[in-house]
Amino acid sequence: MNAIPSVKLIDGKATAARVLAEVREQVDTLRRGGVQPGLAVVLVGLDAASQVYVRNKVLRADEVGIRSLEQRLPSDTSQAALLDVIDRLNRDPRVNGILVQLPLPDHIDEHQVLQAISPLKDVDGFHSENVGGLAQGRDVLTPCTPSGCMRLLRDACGDLRGKHAVVIGRSNIVGKPMAALLLQADCTVTVVHSRSHDLPALCRQADILVSAVGKPRLIGADWLKPGAVVIDVGINRIDEDGRSRLVGDVDLAAALPYASAITPVPGGVGPMTIAYLMKNTLLALDLQQQAAQRERTACPSPC
Ligand code: NDP
Repeated sequence: MNAIPSVKLIDGKATAARVLAEVREQVDTLRRGGVQPGLAVVLVGLDAASQVYVRNKVLRADEVGIRSLEQRLPSDTSQAALLDVIDRLNRDPRVNGILVQLPLPDHIDEHQVLQAISPLKDVDGFHSENVGGLAQGRDVLTPCTPSGCMRLLRDACGDLRGKHAVVIGRSNIVGKPMAALLLQADCTVTVVHSRSHDLPALCRQADILVSAVGKPRLIGADWLKPGAVVIDVGINRIDEDGRSRLVGDVDLAAALPYASAITPVPGGVGPMTIAYLMKNTLLALDLQQQAAQRERTACPSPC
């Protein structure tokens, strides 16, 4: 295999900062017109990691001028009480985006809760109407992590048409929507998972390799086509040399000589997820305004 020496680390932090600056600019324009977008973040329970994620999302919203509304509920909140909160947020005109932090406590039916969020406020893109819309190639809210990956890929590759993309992982949060977005961008898409045979051979076909597995350094040099663009979504905490650190699914040191561009972990995909949550909040507002306009056109006088 010929090594490609001019590998480029994809700087997710810098791209996320650019996305957030774009959002900030749009929010400033909206606010000058008297509209302030709002994002509600709902956290049930005291899961330590979820508390950090929620705090970061709220901080980021505040930084870009989006009004954040944090709803912290006790771990023993009933399903009915949570559905009531979502119903109230659905009807609140100050709230354009609703995010329910996952995972939810075991006694709550996650699917039912996500389905209760208005599809026009579903900034995570998990409602089945948005999942179906993405599959049909309609203009809908799409999950933040794969949307952020698409921005990194467009910046790294330019035109994606006709490229062979291999996605490792088929979760509803990352793998499947990632594959759908790549298909929408006219890539040839292969999705592989834990039951696929000879993963290295399948991955070696990829011009674009996206890994969303959650296994530290699963992907070595022999999985890569020379010149491939590699997006590593995996976040894995490992103990190494006596300290705890985060690594991706890709063995970065082994992949560097072969990839033409690659995201590091941390500092690659991670920062893009929150940036796209903010972008999705603006998109949600826009979709809500379009829906209101359609209603006015359908019924011009009060009826
Ligand atoms: P899931 O556990 O839901 O899905 C993992 C997928 O990987 C499954 O489809 C599974 O296959 C597949 N898989 C597991 N083992 C192997 C293997 N040995 N070979 C090939 N495929 C395998 O995880 P998520 O999609 O939620 O997340 C994936 C990773 O991305 C995690 O590390 C997570 O922390 C990270 N993540 C990062 C985000 C970010 O902002 N950067 C956001 C979301 C997730 P099967 O379906 O057959 O079981």
